[in-house]
Amino acid sequence: MNLRLLSERVINCKLCPRLVAYTSEVASRKVRRFSHWEYWGRPVPSFGDPEATIMIVGLAPAAHGGNRTGRMFTGDHSGEWLFKALHEVGLANKSTSISRDDGLQVKGVYITAVVHCAPPDNKPLPQEVENCLNYLREELHLLNRVKVIVALGRLAFDQLCKIYGVKGRFSHGSSVTLPDGRLLIASYHPSARNTNTGKMSWDQWVWVFRRAKELSG
Ligand code: SF4
Repeated sequence: MNLRLLSERVINCKLCPRLVAYTSEVASRKVRRFSHWEYWGRPVPSFGDPEATIMIVGLAPAAHGGNRTGRMFTGDHSGEWLFKALHEVGLANKSTSISRDDGLQVKGVYITAVVHCAPPDNKPLPQEVENCLNYLREELHLLNRVKVIVALGRLAFDQLCKIYGVKGRFSHGSSVTLPDGRLLIASYHPSARNTNTGKMSWDQWVWVFRRAKELSG
């Protein structure tokens, strides 16, 4: 198994009928501002450097973000925050993430999610999370240079703790050393709910990636 084959399996996965139906339905319905787009409308594969030392784990693609563009954190508010921060700390060649062919490249970073299909209201069901976790387990195994894992949001943090069988308390910037020596860092998710309400400032957000870069060597 390698990352390319894993990516193909994700793209063709149909394990969660509710999500397969929803992503496809959103792709046909669209929203007015993206009516000219050919939506991806399928499971969204992970994205990044196969030699990554930092893994970033989000919740799931957004209905009109990753589910539209076919790339994680691409074409939505969370993606704007993520790549602006990665660029600021020198981990991405551009500060914007607009489409799969926009020339964006990351260095030493791999971006994935707990769930690869956009869920209604951004809320996957427990069984859907369970179904998709196997892909994350495989990525954790295949990306053997990863030293630091950044979990974006409580759900991603809790699922990583579950995979590793450790207890951790979620708060922005908290960290847990995992049994394989990797460090898990918790961060608020860069959704508008957190960034537009002042729950997470820009400095608090960028600090997470500066720390991840420093600790990943
Ligand atoms: S959420 Fe994951 S397991 Fe479920 S259909 Fe999508 S890719 Fe498959």
